[in-house]
Amino acid sequence: MTTIYHDADADLGALNDQTVAVVGYGNQGRSQALNLRDSGVRVVIGSIRDASHDQAQADGFEVLSIADACRRADVVMLLIPDEVMPAVYDEHVATNLAAGSLLVFASGYNIAFDLIRPAEDLDVALLAPRMIGIGVRDTYVEGTGFPSFVGVHHDASGTAKDRLLALAKAVGSTRAGCIEMSMHDEASLDLFTEQGFGPAFGRVMMAAVELLVGAGYPPEAVLLELYLSGELAYSLEKIREVGMLKQMDFHSRTSQYGSMTRGARFLALDAPIKETMADVLEEIRSGAFAQEWSEAQEGAGSLLENIRAARDKIPFAQWERDARAALRIGDADG
Ligand code: NDP
Repeated sequence: MTTIYHDADADLGALNDQTVAVVGYGNQGRSQALNLRDSGVRVVIGSIRDASHDQAQADGFEVLSIADACRRADVVMLLIPDEVMPAVYDEHVATNLAAGSLLVFASGYNIAFDLIRPAEDLDVALLAPRMIGIGVRDTYVEGTGFPSFVGVHHDASGTAKDRLLALAKAVGSTRAGCIEMSMHDEASLDLFTEQGFGPAFGRVMMAAVELLVGAGYPPEAVLLELYLSGELAYSLEKIREVGMLKQMDFHSRTSQYGSMTRGARFLALDAPIKETMADVLEEIRSGAFAQEWSEAQEGAGSLLENIRAARDKIPFAQWERDARAALRIGDADG
């Protein structure tokens, strides 16, 4: 049975007299810190001296070194990039946490794949927004909130769950709903969306673009038809609102007849797609991907740059640049 927590399940009182250190003041850190403060929670920021350090001060927070913020806090929310987190944890966090402190991660990655091993006397929990940082703030201000995956990984103090749910409420997430989940499941689902679903979806789009341009249709018209008009984005929003099957009712009868009668032809693709996705999922769940990514860290910057440079040379990149410039969509260079 899936457990989903809402506002009524959480009591902000669990954070009475507690200080929350938000470590990192980027996408998630800034939004979560502002939401916590607006909910009446005492917040300090732990940051290296950089641009976000100045932003946190400008926003009126007390900004300390990461080590000092951890020493001051009862709850530490680690909101720095996952790939730098193990080194920062070892150097600045681990030795500065009092027994019974609650350590909160916004992604299960480092715990799930054993890259960070917190001491046994700490509480460890997951509060993973299913929302980009700016949305975390905007939905809080609007009053709708945003969903999250939450879970207690280790409860040394006996208060981990109460404090986690209080935090989830204070950042505005129990308003929308928090699904209970393990670190490993959260990290696996997240990586699968990035590595299994996203690329498969992207490949289908590219295949359609290549086919249609190859058949002589102007790239601008093809890209407009497929997604630049915003119709696809609008349909995806409707899928969220009413469901994948029901949203079909919003399309013309010709569209409904055509997609339903032709849809079955693509069933033959199911087997190879699922097999490829299953391989990707297994690499994620076994930790093989996490190990590969850790080992690739040293050359990661130049590897990603090379891939980006190669990507920019394929005809699709030029078609997209031309079409977006012609249709005056966004930044023409982007
Ligand atoms: P950001 O890339 O926005 O960076 C967060 C902060 O970390 C910034 O203040 C940055 O400073 C600082 N930072 C970067 N490198 C270091 C370092 N070596 N030592 C100390 N501080 C450093 O991170 P996100 O907010 O995107 O991600 C934070 C966590 O939230 C991650 O666990 C991520 O998986 C999770 N998450 C992110 C989501 C998102 O939408 N981005 C959604 C859900 C979860 P500066 O900018 O000055 O370099």
